[in-house]
Amino acid sequence: MDGASQHKVICSYCGDVISSKGDLVTLLSFPEIVDSVHTRCYGELSLRRSGPRVPLNSAGMWWMMAVFGAVCLFLFLLRNFDFLFILVGCIVPSIRLISWIMVERKFRD
Ligand SMILES: [Zn+2]
Repeated sequence: MDGASQHKVICSYCGDVISSKGDLVTLLSFPEIVDSVHTRCYGELSLRRSGPRVPLNSAGMWWMMAVFGAVCLFLFLLRNFDFLFILVGCIVPSIRLISWIMVERKFRD
């Protein structure tokens, strides 16, 4: 594998290269963890599959991450937490981070 192809992000729906961050939608998937698709392919996927899949790189996900992170920190500081809460609180930011590490950092715009 050469250096150039390593930095390419391929759409898992149509198989084409995703050329810009504006055209990228990252989705949570199993077992790949993160799926990357074009904005237009995300539209088609949403129609085809039952139930909406929240894009990981959306503004909504940033809010979820902020809220979960704050709750997680709050419970931790209170020392009155259920381990499960901490776990759930950390899952969202972790997935968001994985999405960035695996896909989004390849775009430099
Ligand atoms: Zn595509």
